[in-house]
Amino acid sequence: MTIAAAPSLGAENPWLNAQRQFDNAADILNLSPGLRAVLREVRRELIVRFPVKLDGGGLRVFEGYRVQHNVTRGPAKGGIRFHPDTNLDEVKALAMWMTWKCALANIPFGGAKGGVVCDPATLSHRELERLTRRFASEISVLIGPESDIPAPDVNTSGEIMAWIMDTISMEAGYSVPAVVTGKPLDIGGSEGRPSATGRGVCIVALEACNRLGMEPHRTSVAVQGFGNVGSVAALLMHDAGFKICAVSDVHGGIYRDDGIEIHDLLEFRARTGGLAAFPRTEPVSNSALLELPVDLLVPAALENQITVRNAGRLQARVVVEAANGPTTPDADVILERRGITVVPDILANAGGVTVSYFEWVQDLQSLFWEEGEINHKLERILKKAFVQMCDHADAQRVSLRLGAYLVAVKRVADATAVRGIYP
Ligand code: NAD
Repeated sequence: MTIAAAPSLGAENPWLNAQRQFDNAADILNLSPGLRAVLREVRRELIVRFPVKLDGGGLRVFEGYRVQHNVTRGPAKGGIRFHPDTNLDEVKALAMWMTWKCALANIPFGGAKGGVVCDPATLSHRELERLTRRFASEISVLIGPESDIPAPDVNTSGEIMAWIMDTISMEAGYSVPAVVTGKPLDIGGSEGRPSATGRGVCIVALEACNRLGMEPHRTSVAVQGFGNVGSVAALLMHDAGFKICAVSDVHGGIYRDDGIEIHDLLEFRARTGGLAAFPRTEPVSNSALLELPVDLLVPAALENQITVRNAGRLQARVVVEAANGPTTPDADVILERRGITVVPDILANAGGVTVSYFEWVQDLQSLFWEEGEINHKLERILKKAFVQMCDHADAQRVSLRLGAYLVAVKRVADATAVRGIYP
């Protein structure tokens, strides 16, 4: 079955795209109008505007968001993004995607997301800390270990999670480690969490290759975005035998058709602060990277990278969506028509939230596990979700994205139905 292309109006609004993806699944699941109305909107959205003291003595007001899409299967869960272009619609989409991601992995969380409109590169370390702490205080009406648990996302880190944990703990009067995940180990973080999203990307890429009869050591790869997720995915995929031919960051990328040594590149970046001028590579722009002659493409940066404008020119056989929402629904239609397999974000990057779930469980129990156990449990969960996604996609003759949505949306719909509507 092929989903018809919709008009391109608003085609790059992530929230409209997230709703459209949900509608595709709701149609096949034949969800009742009432249930559909509940699930296609967010449950709560909080907009905050708050002042931060600048180092020079002035004040600046920032805008931030915390959105909970759904909390039916458990506390809301989702990262916090610091980015100049973030906005309420983006955060709503990211929150909805978190609901489906948690449901697909079958972990007992709902979906949430947060964001602050800011460019961290223009803030000093002390300004960033004050901004984070004030934002944490502003959204403390929503977040908590039993209600809503943030984590890192674009431009946020373990250190930023530590400031949020400390702020909430100071307001409570005691330590509340389980209020955030992705924390440093010293304050209740989990082994394996910093690498979990990238590890999940690698696990899922291997499963996809297996399904398509592709051998990793004969598979060339381009990775767009070399941050927390993209750099770990590139490293682990390199170690698993894939040939990583191109990587990029916000400033642009590098390409070498017989493969880049990722361990050396990480060492080079630590020394020079960038990817440019890495020996024996040629520069490539972020848009050109997506159209390189590689077998497997890993978008690991931001939304709307694969659109109607370039979907017809992609050369990869497989796209593994490490980023959230990198492919628009219109582009999905083109890729499906061209026989390009897309492993959807809600599975491909679910490794992060899965180990975040382990971190939260460990914090609540004050009992910590070893990394081997964590990685093993992570692999089991992702492989199981991969099989369930494929089974549904194959049974309905739809894309893997729709297969994944069928599993996830049904789980949330069933949970909603069984709980009933209050009062
Ligand atoms: P990050 O801030 O660590 O890294 C982002 C990377 O993308 C950086 O290398 C940056 O230079 C690059 N980048 C930014 N804008 C770009 C652009 N326009 N073109 C190309 N590259 C660009 O963020 P991250 O945590 O690695 O997140 C990346 C993606 O993965 C996001 O979509 C995020 O929502 C998703 N994700 C992250 C996690 C996690 O655990 N951090 C979990 C699930 C999904």
